[in-house]
Amino acid sequence: MSQHLMNTYNRQPVTFARGEGVWLWDQHGKRYLDALSGVAVNGLGHAHPKLLAAINAQAARMIHVSNIYQIAEQAALADKLCAVAGMDKVFFCNSGCEANEAAIKLARLYGHQRGIENPEIIVMERAFHGRTMATLSATGNRKAQAGFEPLVSGFVRVPFDDLDAVEQIAAHNKNVVAVLVEPVQGEGGINIPHDVAAYLQGLRRICDRHGWLLMVDEVQSGIGRTGTWFAFQHTAIVPDVMTLAKGLGSGVPIGACVAHGAAADVFSYGKHGSTFGGNPLACAAALATLDAIAEDKLRENAQQQGDWIREQFLQAFKDVPGVLKVRNAGLMIGIELDRPCGELVAQALEAGALINVTADSVVRLLPSLIIQRAEAAQLVAILVPLIKQFLTVGAK
Ligand SMILES: *Cc1c(COP(=O)(O)O)cnc(C)c1O
Repeated sequence: MSQHLMNTYNRQPVTFARGEGVWLWDQHGKRYLDALSGVAVNGLGHAHPKLLAAINAQAARMIHVSNIYQIAEQAALADKLCAVAGMDKVFFCNSGCEANEAAIKLARLYGHQRGIENPEIIVMERAFHGRTMATLSATGNRKAQAGFEPLVSGFVRVPFDDLDAVEQIAAHNKNVVAVLVEPVQGEGGINIPHDVAAYLQGLRRICDRHGWLLMVDEVQSGIGRTGTWFAFQHTAIVPDVMTLAKGLGSGVPIGACVAHGAAADVFSYGKHGSTFGGNPLACAAALATLDAIAEDKLRENAQQQGDWIREQFLQAFKDVPGVLKVRNAGLMIGIELDRPCGELVAQALEAGALINVTADSVVRLLPSLIIQRAEAAQLVAILVPLIKQFLTVGAK
């Protein structure tokens, strides 16, 4: 590794040379099953022909023009996103944290427009919203925040999947303007509300009653991963704001802050902006991504393969006491162990699979939406013995 890279990552000792579908090859020709997908980014897998064709054609026409001009690809993508989300307007940026920054600014402006001078946003324990100052402050992870104080103020934290806690805040805090929530928490450990529909409907009801914005962070759960375009679509509610990034551009950086109803008209000219946000190349990649997901029925596939994989793990681990829970929302899959298991990442790599461990003790799998049954079976066949072995030899 170069001495000239800052130490922000704990990198595995492997360099990939190329990819195709769910597979990656390293510099020595060893093949790996990619069950991480660049952390939920490569929804179409690697080197998807439709994506490549769109990117190549757009790069040949033009890669970038400024947002002081009209951008046809951006307008087309906004139309498409609003159509599939049932929402009204989009602001484009380049990443998940930027999409959340836009949502946080939008909520504050909304508050100020209603005469609330110190607007506050309700956020969740174990939430992850990004690494910029405001999104880090919204994130519910003290380790990630440590050393970066003073944090940005204006966030009130409550337990995830707890409507009563939100009601209690509502009863006495008149500064709240919004709730920011991941429908399924990703970095926090693949935490799924015990009843997603009831939870989101409950939040919707509380927000409506108090004139708050319901803002869903779908940076990880969006773009087909949980079996619907967006995880909130497992219910009939529509949020006021939704943030996207990760899978949206299949690896070409793009983020989006999507709004509905009154929230869609909060920003006026000059209130927010981005140099790269929504440039032609990124929008062409996102349009191709959405098209491929629809044409190839990848939402359906994500649901079916995710449920099947979970079922296999449930069977395999049913008499293994070290495995506490196996859960999935489509292809967001978590295997919660009774002990920290970070070493499994290197062990899986050695065995030919890319996985992730989050929240110390949760094996997280985020395979591409294109994964087929035979590949899913290979993934299970690699991981089951590895996890059993780990639980046997690893001292608790
Ligand atoms: C990854 C993630 C982010 C941050 O996205 P970046 O592109 O890394 O800034 C925000 N929210 C959620 C839910 C995420 O999973």
